[in-house]
Amino acid sequence: MTQIPYSKLPEAVPSIFTTIGKLAREQRALNLSQGFPNFPVDPKLIDLVEKAMREGYNQYAPMEGIYSLREVISNKISSLYGKQYHPDKELTMVAGATQGIYTAITAVVHEGDEVIVLKPAYDCYEPAIAINGGVPVFVQMKGIDFKIDWDEFRAAVSSKTRLVIINTPHNPTGSILSAEDMTELESILRDTNIMVLSDEVYEHMVFDEEKHESVSKYPGLSERSFVMASFGKTFHVTGWKMGYCAAPESLMKEFRKVHEYNVYAINHPIQKALASYLSEESNYLQLSSFLQQKRDLFIKAISPSRFSFTPAKGTYFQLVNYSAISDEKDVLFAKRLIREKGIASIPISVFNVDQLDQKQLRFCFAKTDETLLKAAEIIIKI
Ligand code: PMP
Ligand code: GLN
Repeated sequence: MTQIPYSKLPEAVPSIFTTIGKLAREQRALNLSQGFPNFPVDPKLIDLVEKAMREGYNQYAPMEGIYSLREVISNKISSLYGKQYHPDKELTMVAGATQGIYTAITAVVHEGDEVIVLKPAYDCYEPAIAINGGVPVFVQMKGIDFKIDWDEFRAAVSSKTRLVIINTPHNPTGSILSAEDMTELESILRDTNIMVLSDEVYEHMVFDEEKHESVSKYPGLSERSFVMASFGKTFHVTGWKMGYCAAPESLMKEFRKVHEYNVYAINHPIQKALASYLSEESNYLQLSSFLQQKRDLFIKAISPSRFSFTPAKGTYFQLVNYSAISDEKDVLFAKRLIREKGIASIPISVFNVDQLDQKQLRFCFAKTDETLLKAAEIIIKI
C-alpha cells in the first residue's frame, strides 16, 4: 500500500462535533451538542428551491454566484451596516462558510506568515492555516465571559502577522464583540497591511437589544477584511452549505483565484431561491427575536439546576458552568452526561489555548420548545 511520507495535518483528529455526535447517536441521547436546528425550514423557501429546479436552473451557476443574489446581498449589507459592496467585484457565493474561510486563508496566507487567532476558536481555522504553512498565534480570551485583552492582542502583532481572525457573535461562547472592541481593533491595525477574516455566520442572532458589530461598519476594518456569512445558520438549513464572502476588490480578486479552481461554482437552484427569499427582510430580521424566545425558555427552565450561566448575547449556544457539580475534566464530564443522563453538549476546553478547562459546556438552543423542555428536565436533575 502506498504510504504518504508525512501528513499535511499531523495533529488533526476527528473534531469534537464528530466525536460527541457519534456518542450521542450510539447512546440515543438528546442532542444539544452540534449546532443545528431541529425545527422545520420555512416551506416558502423549500417551494422556491423546487420552483427553481423545475424551471431548469440545474446547470453550473456563474463562478462568482448569480448576479441577482449578489445584488440583493449587497443591498442587505448596505442597509444594515452602511457599506456597499459591489455585487460584481466584491461578493462571491461560497459552499458554506467553512469553504469560504478555507479559501480566504489559502488566498492570503503564505509559508511562515502569522495568523492571530482568538481562543476559544471555532475549529476550522487552524487546519486551514496549517495546511498553508501559516503559523497560528493564539490570544486566549479572558474570564468565564471571554473578553479580549487588547494589550495581549497588541503584543501578539508582529512584522510577520498577515491575518487576524475574529468571530462575532462568537461560537462557542455566545458572546459578541462591542463597538469599543471594533474600534480598538481598527486602531491597532491602522498603518499596517494586516488583513482580517471576520466570521459573522451568526450575524442575525443577537439578543437583548444589542447590535451586531460587523467589520463592514468600520471603514478601517472593511478595507482589509473578508466577511464570511452562512445561509445554513440564518435559514435553518445547515445541510445546504451555502454562504457568501464580501471583501474589497483587491482581496476578492485573490479569493476568486482560489475559489475558481477549487470550487468554481456553487448550487444554482438554491441561489435562485435565496435571491427571492432574501428580498423579504423579515425572513432574516425576525431571527433574533425568535431565538431569544428559545434562549429565554431554555435558561428559565434550567435556572433551578446546579449549573450557572450568563445568558448568551448571540448565536444559538448557551454556555453553562458545572463547577458546583463536579471537578471532572469537561470532555469526560460531557461524555458521562451522554452515557449516564442521556444528554449531549459540547465541552469548551477543546477550543481553548492548552485546553484550558473552566468547567463549561455548550448547549445548542436552536431546538423545538418540546426538546428544550425535555433537556431542561434532565439538566435540573444533574
Ligand atoms: N464559523 C462558525 C463560527 C460556525 O459556527 C460555523 C458553523 N458551522 C461555520 C463557520 C461554518 O458554517 P457553514 O456550515 O456555512 O460551513
Ligand atoms: N457550527 C456547528 C457547531 O459549532 C457545527 C460544526 C460542525 O459540525 N463542524 O456546532
